[in-house]
Amino acid sequence: MIDLHAHTTCSDGTETPRQLINNAIIHGLTTIAVTDHDSIAGWSEAASAVRGNIELALGAEISCLTTNGISVHMLGLLFDGTNPEMIRMLDETRDSRIPRMIKMIELLNAGGYEITMEDIEAVKPVGATLGRPHLADALVAKKYIASRDEAFNGLLNNESRYYVSHMAPTPEVAIAQIRRAGGVAVIAHAFASHRGEVLEASDFGSLVDAGLNGIEVDHRDHSSAERAMLRVIAQDLNLVITGSSDYHGTGKLNALGENSTNPQEWARLEAMADARRVVKL
Ligand code: AMP
Ligand code: ZN
Ligand code: FE
Ligand code: FE
Repeated sequence: MIDLHAHTTCSDGTETPRQLINNAIIHGLTTIAVTDHDSIAGWSEAASAVRGNIELALGAEISCLTTNGISVHMLGLLFDGTNPEMIRMLDETRDSRIPRMIKMIELLNAGGYEITMEDIEAVKPVGATLGRPHLADALVAKKYIASRDEAFNGLLNNESRYYVSHMAPTPEVAIAQIRRAGGVAVIAHAFASHRGEVLEASDFGSLVDAGLNGIEVDHRDHSSAERAMLRVIAQDLNLVITGSSDYHGTGKLNALGENSTNPQEWARLEAMADARRVVKL
């Protein structure tokens, strides 16, 4: 079974890269991708944990914003992690998450929530990409809310008065950069409409022009109607179709391997990278 989207303690997952690989082996996965938000910090630990028959695809989930302010997540897989422009793009986004968090804290303070950056640092693993899930954890620790899920269903969702966006490349810029670094670009949960405003079918042409390789169709946050629409778009544009768990350990309900990618589709996608970068014993 092939699962091409999972997070670790290097972003908002709750398992270390080594624990994730161990778990993937226990679950009988044949391929697992490590795709932390805007970070490749988990790559070396994940690679060192590979054993047996499991294949590891190294990647990242890049936070993007369209010129209309729509949030898009782009999975970059199998890119060269030493590409300087790629590293810079990820660094810039991670850096901008700090002033963004300060703004969200100020809004929450004004709204009567007593929360500080120190509270967030106390619950965030060292080196992890700073995100709303860590703010949610801090609010849980202070007993304002019960869970991350509750936070994303109200207080911290994209429509909340406390929400602030951070600097991010456009999807087209991210795709082109992933491709220049030799990797493949797959748009994550593109029609997950309950998260906020999403792209329209007519937006996919410019993503293909930028070099998009695939669409994540089978994902927990897509309804069957949304999956059907994405499948048609993928077929029309000759894009690879993937499915994945978006596993976050105990940080989300998503179970490892709950959605997976067809082996033929994975073979097609892997062949689109400029080198064979899958990590295997
Ligand atoms: P941020 O990148 O800081 O804006 O935070 C968004 C991230 O929060 C997403 O990438 C998800 O991984 C995570 N997230 C979204 N919804 C939930 C949820 N219901 N429970 C836990 N984490 C979530
Ligand atoms: Zn996440
Ligand atoms: Fe995502
Ligand atoms: Fe994700």
